[in-house]
Parts: sequence; C-alpha cells; structure tokens
Amino acid sequence: MKSNLNSKFLLFIVVFAISGCIEEDLPTKSTSGYCFASNFGQLGQLYKTSGNQQLDFWHYGEYNNLIQRFGVKPDIFFYDDGNSPNAYFTPQISNNQYPDGQVAIGLSWIKKEFANSPTNSGVSIAIIMAHEFGHCVDVKYSVYNTQSYKSELFADYLAGCYLHLKSMTIGEQYVREVANSFYSIGDYAFNDPRHHGTPSQRVACLMAGYNFSKSRVGIGIGYSLLDAVSNAKNYVGQF
Ligand SMILES: [Zn+2]
Repeated sequence: MKSNLNSKFLLFIVVFAISGCIEEDLPTKSTSGYCFASNFGQLGQLYKTSGNQQLDFWHYGEYNNLIQRFGVKPDIFFYDDGNSPNAYFTPQISNNQYPDGQVAIGLSWIKKEFANSPTNSGVSIAIIMAHEFGHCVDVKYSVYNTQSYKSELFADYLAGCYLHLKSMTIGEQYVREVANSFYSIGDYAFNDPRHHGTPSQRVACLMAGYNFSKSRVGIGIGYSLLDAVSNAKNYVGQF
C-alpha cells in the first residue's frame, strides 16, 4: 500500500493540472469554523455539476489529478455558498466508492477566484481543491485528524507541494497569484475558535511545501507522499 502511494507521488514528470482548496470565514453556513467539517448537513443541496460544461471539464480533470497525486479518493461536489465563498472537507463517507470522505467547493468561491485571477486561469481554485485533499491525507494517516488550525496549515503545506508540481507544467508565473489568494483568505482572529491560521502562516506553509517539492525534484530525487506528510508535520509543528 505505501509503496503504491509513494510511486504515485513520485511521478513528477507526468502532465497534470492542479487545484487547491482554501477556506474563508462563512458566517451564514459555518459547520464549525474550519473547512474540516464533521458532515455536510448544513451545506444544503450538493451538486455534481456547476452548470457550466467547460468549468466541469476543468474541475473533474483537476480532481482526477489530485486523486493520483494524493492517493486518496474523496467524493466531490459543488454547493451554493451564497455570499460566503468557501470550500469544505468532511471525513464522513456517503458512498463506499469514495472511501476518503467528501469535498464540497462553493460556486461563489469559484466565481470569486476566477474574477480575481489576473491570469484568468483560476489556478487558485486548483490549490483550494488540493488543500481539501490535504485534509483527506491528514485523516487517512491520522496526522492531526481534527478541526484545528494545525490541520489547516498542514493542508496548506501539501497544497504547496501540489502547487510546485503544477507549476512544472503551467509555469511559475502562477505561483504569486496563488500566494496572494492564500494571503487574502487568512484569518487574523487569533482568539476566535474558528481561527485557521494567519495570512502569513498560511502563505509560509504553502511556500514551505512548494519549496520542499522544488528542492527534491530539482535535484532529481523526488519524494514520496509520506515524505511530504512527514515534512509538513515537522514544519507546522513550529506554529
Ligand atoms: Zn481546510
């Protein structure tokens, strides 16, 4: 099992696309304050289509790449996030074909990220999705496996690894756009139980993951998923 996962994450040369998953405060539809939710009961209707064929094609392409990279297979949905752009993960399983929980991406979040994308690539959406997949990995390997700012920062680190792998195919010019998006969604409310990391912490974890991946791939040795998990936990431990 481990070697299989490792080999999946070691294949850096294969062309792939990326997504990420990030969360914002969601005053009206919060399930807990973190994007790591116990269930999706408060999200309302879940959808398999965004209503836009082109977006769906991109979205599911990214989803399949994430499954390969992270070695987890959550079910994935869209939902109506109204005026509270957000994305969520829950470890709750609703379909045995998807043993690693569920991910829900808000439709207004997608619109917002595309609207704020200077490159019009929506690349930050890919990293938002990767962040949610990071939560899947957290649960699968029982790293933090809880609603905490450390689990959020851990997911940011793994999203950073994915950002680097994606940048290898789409170019490094997109990295700043993603970092800016991360910064804008950080949470300054240290005393708020919904705290999931300051902007600087979130960007630091994202870029630490990015640089870890870049350093390993740059010298031709690559890394396994479990290498990334171990380094992510060590890095997040400082916060
Ligand atoms: Zn999260």
